[in-house]
Amino acid sequence: MSGSMLKNIWLPYTQMQTCNNPVIAQTTKGSVITLQDGTELIDGIASWWTACHGYNHPYIADHVQKQLQKMPHIMFGGIIHEPAITLSAKLAELLPGDLNKVFFTESGSVAVEVAMKMAIQFWLNQNKIEKTKILSFYGGYHGDTMATMAVCDPEEGMHHLFKDVLPHQHIIQLPTTQELRQQFSDFLEKHHHEIAAILMEPLVQGAGGMLFHDPEQLSFLRQQADHYNILLIFDEIFTGLGRTGSFFACNQADIVPDIIILSKALSGGTMALAATIARECIFDGFLSDKESHALMHGPTFMANPLACSCANASLNLFEQYDWASNVKNIEAQLTQELAACLKLDIVKDVRVKGAIGVVELHKIDNMNLLKNKLLEHKVWIRPFRNIVYLTPAFTITTAELSQLTRAIYDVLSS
Ligand SMILES: *Cc1c(COP(=O)(O)O)cnc(C)c1O
Repeated sequence: MSGSMLKNIWLPYTQMQTCNNPVIAQTTKGSVITLQDGTELIDGIASWWTACHGYNHPYIADHVQKQLQKMPHIMFGGIIHEPAITLSAKLAELLPGDLNKVFFTESGSVAVEVAMKMAIQFWLNQNKIEKTKILSFYGGYHGDTMATMAVCDPEEGMHHLFKDVLPHQHIIQLPTTQELRQQFSDFLEKHHHEIAAILMEPLVQGAGGMLFHDPEQLSFLRQQADHYNILLIFDEIFTGLGRTGSFFACNQADIVPDIIILSKALSGGTMALAATIARECIFDGFLSDKESHALMHGPTFMANPLACSCANASLNLFEQYDWASNVKNIEAQLTQELAACLKLDIVKDVRVKGAIGVVELHKIDNMNLLKNKLLEHKVWIRPFRNIVYLTPAFTITTAELSQLTRAIYDVLSS
């Protein structure tokens, strides 16, 4: 049965030769995944932290159903619609400063590509033809497409195999110490003329290793970007929409990037949607009497009305319950309950920020065994590299969260 099940499926980041029994999900509700055989799993990662209000939220489902009756999709070239108008206005209102110009796409990687393209074309439109490079950081993750692979961590990332075929970008260390800040400034002094933008994940570098840094780093980067006439792009695909405790990570440093990227939780985990949002001054750089100065991008399914209506419902939900206290409570509970893991020899570090809990091991010898043991504890947790992490829905109950932290401790200590 399991062999034939996988006959025509190719899973992501999976060695298919040894993959023989993926679980089959049948229904989801809140923080529970019910499998085809009736087993109920508590979900610790909310489907790559997209389902921030829990699965199958009736309010989101209701919005989508209504939109489905009216208009599931229409091209966005030269014609617009109410769900996109509402969503872009709402995002402009929620985002800090004048981050007001919203470009929709259907995946995070593409939204990052659009941000990079926007930054480069912004300078090209001014005839600054040398400013074509992106500066990004070790430990970073920005997607799986060719252009985004080139700005991920080149060694630790999932893409080192490709490093010789990718375009060369500048990747350096996050300036977290005085010495590194000096090195950073020296680097910009030398290279600023060829750099279009600094691209980073603010506060939490996610899929690159769940690494945290302080808001001061963001203020420093804003100041450096201004000083050297370089755009600052925040990839908030992971951190945006409440995950780190503030609605956007940039709120914690009280700064405004030139371009911000949202996806993952944007639609409440129901439909694929992403947005690249620029400040007015960036948008203005594309206004011209030359057609060729227009932003040269346009995905077929951009601003899909169903996806926009999910996002509108999801953003409304943030106003209907005190998500910020929920995240605070999750943070406190994760801090308290994951602390026990620190005493285990195999554990290198335990860290928590907002609704993100990380247990970093020295190394994971048998990943499949670890995954199977977690499944036996009836939890859905997906470790990667040497990291076991939790990014639960903001609506998870105290008991469900305890079940997750206990499963991690029990599995790691067995
Ligand atoms: C997930 C993620 C991406 C890529 O998004 P996809 O929708 O998988 O293409 C990019 N940047 C960050 C920070 C992410 O977490």
